[in-house]
Amino acid sequence: MRKIRKGDIVKVISGNDRGKRGEVMKIFAEKERIIVKGVAMITRHQRPTARQREGGIIEREGTINQSNVLVVCPVCDKPTRVGFSIQEDGGKMRMCKQCQGTFD
Ligand SMILES: [Zn+2]
Repeated sequence: MRKIRKGDIVKVISGNDRGKRGEVMKIFAEKERIIVKGVAMITRHQRPTARQREGGIIEREGTINQSNVLVVCPVCDKPTRVGFSIQEDGGKMRMCKQCQGTFD
């Protein structure tokens, strides 16, 4: 079970974008890297194509290391380390180490 999932809100805790919050858009599990909306923006020069005559500079998100973010707990809204909690039915939920709240 993963600690960070697509759709989570995370807070960046190191690097140039420290302090930013954003939604996890993509996870590269094997590399432990993620893409967070609005974080680690990189600019690329786009050549003109048949569809887009102008070309120009486009901005998109680069990947960052998963260890550079904390998940923002949906229960208490604080950035937290994530633990796991075993439910009565045997299922696992993620657990916020700040408020002990559980979330899926
Ligand atoms: Zn919490």
